Amino acid sequence: MKVVLDHVTKIYKSTRRRGGKDVLAVDDFDFELPDGLLIGLLGPSGCGKSTTLNLISGLESPTKGRIFFDSEDVTELPPEKRGVGMVFQNYALYPHMTVRKNIVFPLENLRGVQKLPQDHIEARVKRAAELVQIEALLDRKPGELSGGEQQRVAIARALVKIPRVLLLDEPLSNLDARLRLQTREEIRRIQKETGVTTIFVTHDQEEAMSISDIIILMKDGVVQQIGKPQEVYDDPVNLFVAQFLGTPQINVFDGRISGGDLYIGEERIMQAKGPDDGPVTVGIRPEGLVLDRQGVLTTKLSNVEVMGRDTSVVSTHEAAKRSVLRAVVSSDTLGQLSGNKAVFSVRPSKVHLFSKNDGRRLVF
Ligand code: ADP
Ligand code: MG
Repeated sequence: MKVVLDHVTKIYKSTRRRGGKDVLAVDDFDFELPDGLLIGLLGPSGCGKSTTLNLISGLESPTKGRIFFDSEDVTELPPEKRGVGMVFQNYALYPHMTVRKNIVFPLENLRGVQKLPQDHIEARVKRAAELVQIEALLDRKPGELSGGEQQRVAIARALVKIPRVLLLDEPLSNLDARLRLQTREEIRRIQKETGVTTIFVTHDQEEAMSISDIIILMKDGVVQQIGKPQEVYDDPVNLFVAQFLGTPQINVFDGRISGGDLYIGEERIMQAKGPDDGPVTVGIRPEGLVLDRQGVLTTKLSNVEVMGRDTSVVSTHEAAKRSVLRAVVSSDTLGQLSGNKAVFSVRPSKVHLFSKNDGRRLVF
């Protein structure tokens, strides 16, 4: 099922309690979410992710714009008629019911033509339990399950109705780090197996990057960029996107263009034909800084951090926007360090330039 947001805007009207200001939660969201993919809806807290999801589910209605599932206009349809499955951060299982009862509940509540015969219901529950691998837990109560298991039950409950669209709002936030990793892989697998169009909301860029076919990155209600995770990482449209994606974060400097060359401080970094002469913001990915005594960027070494596979060289530079710079280097280049200096050459494809005024990416 394709989900179309056609110029969708959501304004929460002011109440006296909020000091009389309307909130523009989603601003002109206009995109066709392709059928059968896992779409990661990503952005900082308060950027409009849940609102977008609730507009798709029907829990909220848009102030402007229309929503379509394939060619069907669902804008006025109540949530229960949209055929969506939803999973939230808080699993909200019924504590007094067994896992089986919790999963079966949405089916037993179907009325009229939608009502299913008992053997169909049982087959559905079996299939959903298999998909999330909780067959052995069906007779337990939620209180007898771990957080990860509870969340899998919640997913089974969302799948049992065979939804046209699966909506997941920060479903892993309450899990510890290891379970979060494991459960996100499960979600990826379940999505592949069922082929149901899935929208996965998270504020965690790594989570979104790792499981999404497509990511949509939002800020202040406005979609910033849509694309395959690697494409958005490699070609950010603005400084916000470049900074939001990637760990460690992209290093940001004040720089300047002069006669077709890029400078940071007094050092010439590389050729940069295109942008006008004048100040620019420079972003260099941590993997774009290569230790090299003959390099182009001289920094003051603070620390070398060896963390398993990665070695991080931590240093400082006067023109840097943050207190420390990070370079992720291969450990066999550490011999290039001398004294308290770390000198780097740069990988040109890992260097991005942004407008000083509005943060837009400058091509060069
Ligand atoms: P996210 O899920 O990305 O953290 P939300 O979609 O929940 O963000 O919220 C987007 C903006 O809308 C925020 O500024 C939030 O305070 C506001 N908001 C969310 N729900 C309501 C509501 N029911 N009434 C008024 N403002 C709301
Ligand atoms: Mg939210």
